[in-house]
Formats: sequence, C-alpha cells, structure tokens
Amino acid sequence: MNSTPHVLIVDDESVARNTLRGMLLSEGYKLSFAVNGREALTRLAEEPPDVILLDVMMPEMDGFEVCRFIKGDSRWQHIPIVLVTALDSKEDLAAGLDAGANEFVSKPVVTLELQARVRSMLRIKKQYDDLIMLLQLREDLANMIVHDIRSPLTVILGYSESMQRRIQQKFGEEVVPLQKIHRQAQRLQGFANDMLMLTKMERGQLILQRTPVDVSQLIRAAEPDYQVLAESRGMKLEVILPADQPRLIELDSALFQRILDNLLANAFKYAPADSTVVLQVEYPPLLEEATAPQLRVKVIDEGPGIPEEDRERIFEKYEIVALKQRQVPQVGLGLAFCKMIAEAHAGRIYVEANKPVGSVFVVEI
Ligand code: ADP
Repeated sequence: MNSTPHVLIVDDESVARNTLRGMLLSEGYKLSFAVNGREALTRLAEEPPDVILLDVMMPEMDGFEVCRFIKGDSRWQHIPIVLVTALDSKEDLAAGLDAGANEFVSKPVVTLELQARVRSMLRIKKQYDDLIMLLQLREDLANMIVHDIRSPLTVILGYSESMQRRIQQKFGEEVVPLQKIHRQAQRLQGFANDMLMLTKMERGQLILQRTPVDVSQLIRAAEPDYQVLAESRGMKLEVILPADQPRLIELDSALFQRILDNLLANAFKYAPADSTVVLQVEYPPLLEEATAPQLRVKVIDEGPGIPEEDRERIFEKYEIVALKQRQVPQVGLGLAFCKMIAEAHAGRIYVEANKPVGSVFVVEI
C-alpha cells in the first residue's frame, strides 16, 4: 500500500459520487471514480485501489455482480469492498455477504460512519500488504540462500570425487565416508536445483527445451546409475520397456529425466530393503483427442504406500505424509517439482495403490 491510501468509488449517479467524495475529502485519500461495473474493472486493472466503495443499485451489472467478479479474481480478491446500499433487508445483507463483500454502509450515508468503516478496511488491507511483503522477503531470502549454497557444493562434490579417485588408484579401495559425503552433497545439490527450478516455473521464467525423445533409450542410458542407487539400498530395480517401435515424444529431456530421478529416489527412500522397484514405460494407443497421453511411465514400489486422503496433497510444495516408525528425512519438494514439469508438458502425475502394498506413481505426457 502506498503512503496515500487509494479509494475507488463506484456509483452510477454523479450526485452520490460527489457526496461520497465530499465525505472522504478531509481524510486525505487518493480518490478515483467509476460510473458502472465495467469501468470499475478497467480502473482495477489500471491501478488497483486499497478499498472499493461499491453502490448496489446500478444498471447492467449490479453491485453484487461486480463484487462477485472482483472476489473471484485472484489478482483483486484481497481488496476490501464496502457495499453502499439503500436496501436494509436481511436478504440483501445475506446476498452481499455471499457475493464476498467485507463491509456495508446504508444510505443515507453518515459521514462519521463512512469514514470509520473505510479506515477499518484500510487497516485490514495494510495488514494483508505487510504480510505479503514479509512472505516475499522470506521467499527472496530462501532463494538467495539456495542459490549461494550451490558454489560451495560444487567444490565439495568436485574434491570428494577426485579424492575418491586418487585413493582408489593408489590403494585400490573405496573410502566409505568419502562416498557418503559425496552422496549427501549430491542430494543437497538436487534439492537446491529443484528449488531454484520451482521458483523459475512459478515466476513463468522456465522455458521448456523440447526435442523428439525416445524415452526407452533415455532410460537405458540412465539405468546403470539407477541400478547403483538400488543396490546401495539393498533393493532390486526392474526396468520394463515397451517392445513396440520406439515412439518419439516432444519432451524437455533433462527435465523429464528429473521426474524419473525424483520418483525413483523416493521409491528407494521409502520402500524397504530387499523389495523390488519397477520402472515401466508404456505407449498408450494413439487417439484422436489432443489430450490423450502418448506416454505413460510408472514407478512401482512395495513401500508403505500413500493413504488415499493424501494422494493429491503430496504433490503440493512442502507436503509430507507422517511416516510412522521410520526415520526418513522428508522435505516435500520433489513431487511438487514433478507435478510442475508434467503439467508444463501438458501432462499429469498421480499416485495409485500398489497391490498388496506400496505405491504406483504414474506420469502421463
Ligand atoms: P520428500 O521425499 O523430500 O519429503 P516429495 O515431494 O518427494 O518430498 O514427497 C512428498 C511426500 O510424499 C514424502 O514426504 C512422503 O511422505 C511421500 N512419498 C513420496 N514418495 C513416496 C513413496 N514412494 N512411498 C511412500 N511415500 C512417499
């Protein structure tokens, strides 16, 4: 909110607009005016006010309708609306509240009452603006930290790798603590990359680099790495690729690979040792509809599964499921990241139950 609060007055009658203006003049606000609902929406788009005084009885779009429209738009729904009404019935009050109005003043308007109600709405708007600013600050700070930990991480990764190589060459043996440092630094790096990518996507700054990709080939190339991960957890990985002709699908292959990395990392993290994880690719029959998937990839595990009530929310940022009896570190970013990438490809991701135990994560593009 600027230092001078901005009040938009919407009324089709010029006498009424002038009366309200006269009543608020001494408050030192910036005042702007609209003569009907349509003009009010144009004003909002040009310069959103801090409070809206909205007449109920207007031709074409009445105040309730304008109010519903504004409260239905995420850009403006936080702006408090004071309905100015000649109607005094309980039905109108209910209709106004249903439309999302925050406050009412009845005609004939009393100056002191109007001034007090506008001041009270401005206080609420200021609290909202302060909160948004704080959240923005927190997000900027988090992004800065994540951005800045990447350089030291690259150094840790580089040195731990070259030290491992040198020791291996000299003594012919692996150093377990060094391997652990390397693996944990890799996890941190993956987390930092996901977080930065999510921010980019949320800000609409991520542009997909699509090329025709043979997913089977992409998986065959990555399979040795996935097998190492599975073995390190004492698990088995089974890869099932379609026998049909390879199908070329327009994908951002680096981002698509990150979906697979995340889903497999979760399967290895949450399913027990000795269990099997299946990575399966299917080519669904090609259909006329533009929305029909061309590719389905499943990651099937025998872990604890996801309770039905959590199957949607785990794809939101920082959402986790309390896993009883297991000390598994949880952050809740990986699946949000997968969902964003799948949706950026006009696809989707969902989870089903595996029988008898576990989860089936399905990606359709
Ligand atoms: P993280 O694993 O870092 O917490 P994700 O976004 O990848 O974040 O996953 C969100 C939550 O979904 C996890 O915290 C976990 O509770 C649950 N989850 C994800 N994958 C699995 C799985 N294969 N089996 C059981 N639970 C899972």
